[in-house]
Amino acid sequence: MHRKNFGRNRVLQPSAAYTPADEQEVLDILDRHHGQSIRAVGRLHSWSEAVLGDGVQLDLRRLNSVLLEPDGDQFVATVGAGCQIKRLLKELNRGGATLHSLGLITVQTIAGAISTGTHGSGRHSMSHYVEEVRLARYDESTGQSFIDELSAGEPLLAARCSLGSLGIILSVKIRCRPQYNVQEHFTESRQLEDVLDAEASYPIQQFYLIPWRWSYFIQHRREDAGKRSRLSKLYRLYWLSVMDYGLHLQILFLERMLRSRRMIQFAFRRIVSAFLIRKWKVTDRSSSMLVMKHEAFRHIEIELFVRRDQLADALRFTQEAIKVAAGKESTLSADNQQKIDEHGMQESLDELQDQYCHHYPICVRRVLPDDTLISMASGGNQDWYALSFISYARPARRAGFSLFANFMAQSMSRLFQARPHWGKICPLEANELTALYPRFDSFRTVCASLDPKGVFQNDWTTALLEADGNVADIP
Ligand SMILES: Cc1cc2nc3c(=O)[nH]c(=O)nc-3n(C[C@H](O)[C@H](O)[C@H](O)COP(=O)(O)OP(=O)(O)OC[C@H]3O[C@@H](n4cnc5c(N)ncnc54)[C@H](O)[C@@H]3O)c2cc1C
Repeated sequence: MHRKNFGRNRVLQPSAAYTPADEQEVLDILDRHHGQSIRAVGRLHSWSEAVLGDGVQLDLRRLNSVLLEPDGDQFVATVGAGCQIKRLLKELNRGGATLHSLGLITVQTIAGAISTGTHGSGRHSMSHYVEEVRLARYDESTGQSFIDELSAGEPLLAARCSLGSLGIILSVKIRCRPQYNVQEHFTESRQLEDVLDAEASYPIQQFYLIPWRWSYFIQHRREDAGKRSRLSKLYRLYWLSVMDYGLHLQILFLERMLRSRRMIQFAFRRIVSAFLIRKWKVTDRSSSMLVMKHEAFRHIEIELFVRRDQLADALRFTQEAIKVAAGKESTLSADNQQKIDEHGMQESLDELQDQYCHHYPICVRRVLPDDTLISMASGGNQDWYALSFISYARPARRAGFSLFANFMAQSMSRLFQARPHWGKICPLEANELTALYPRFDSFRTVCASLDPKGVFQNDWTTALLEADGNVADIP
């Protein structure tokens, strides 16, 4: 038996697979397979090696209960590990609540989403809001499975984003908030300063660097105490038909059928912007406004997190690297070229030259620093900005994107200490990755105490836990 992930870039071949009905069944499975390697999966929406494992596989989709309780003027929800975010949002909405933070899609499970630091824009990542994790693991002295509750100190900070490597998450207690409305509208600007200045008025905005047009489309967003707009349903229909499907079908046609770089570049320069209705202000419920049908068409993605003080340089570097990759330029600007030389990356840049034409808007989202050990936005005293690079090439034709993703991860981690999303393409070596996280050692210590035999690890997390990296200072 084998399963593939959403991106079709990972194949899972577990020795045994279970879909337990309740917590007791999870414990029974752990006891039956004592001494073997065991890993849980969510809905396999990660592209990274986080989902791999050739031992026993647990899919907790049947543990999907939601219990919402008031907590002062806020809420807290206890959610079964396998509950998908869309079901969770529905249940929360019934009680007048919602999540603080949401990614672009809602098909992930709560355990899967927090385990890789899933985030949206203008808030912390989802992991930050987790108050308690119920975890099935082994008691070292008896060898029996039992349920541990991690609700304080470093074990909680580790469990908030743990790459599946502490044990089997059974449920998650997560802070929620009253439901709210979001007002949104789009503008376009060529200046990054304009985009960043707008954050004061639109704290949950996100923006897109449009390749080949080289301007920013800003999705201004803020909480709105007003009612849902009369035209909110029409706006949703517009998003679904024009953006989620129309725009994406055009990109698929250009990338998969036409495969002409000139047409891709022309489309982004001239046509894509026509899909956007500027300055149409619409207010709708947050859980409708903040998500899209991004899972409608198969794709692959790498996302790199940089600190605010590195953002402008990182975006300039991105633009230059994309032009070199498409053969539009042969070198970078003098200062970026000097940095590439200093980091010994000229050969990789030469290899990338003329190999890949980027064909998707680069979404940039602001994430507030998380109180976790290893989520991408953990630590530091500045906001983080996540830059995402997506390819819609067919799975068999992703060689150019792989070269590009490798180059971007290598160069941006060296030049800007950029951290790749744990759930997306994550092409750095283990020691390069762990060096980006000042608290990775504390994470190791928690893993070693909760899972001393490493039965919940896969090859990737074992390499991370054994890596020896020089940790960068994060201001
Ligand atoms: C179309 C698309 C859009 C996306 N949009 C965003 C976005 O906007 N923002 C963002 O940050 N990310 C985004 N992602 C990434 C996605 O949120 C993460 O990869 C997430 O981890 C996937 O959740 P999942 O339920 O599919 O878990 P999986 O991918 O199946 O697993 C992820 C990790 O969680 C672990 N895990 C799962 N369940 C358990 C459990 N019960 N106990 C212990 N460990 C467990 C697994 O072992 C694995 O390490 C997107 C992905 C796709 C495909």
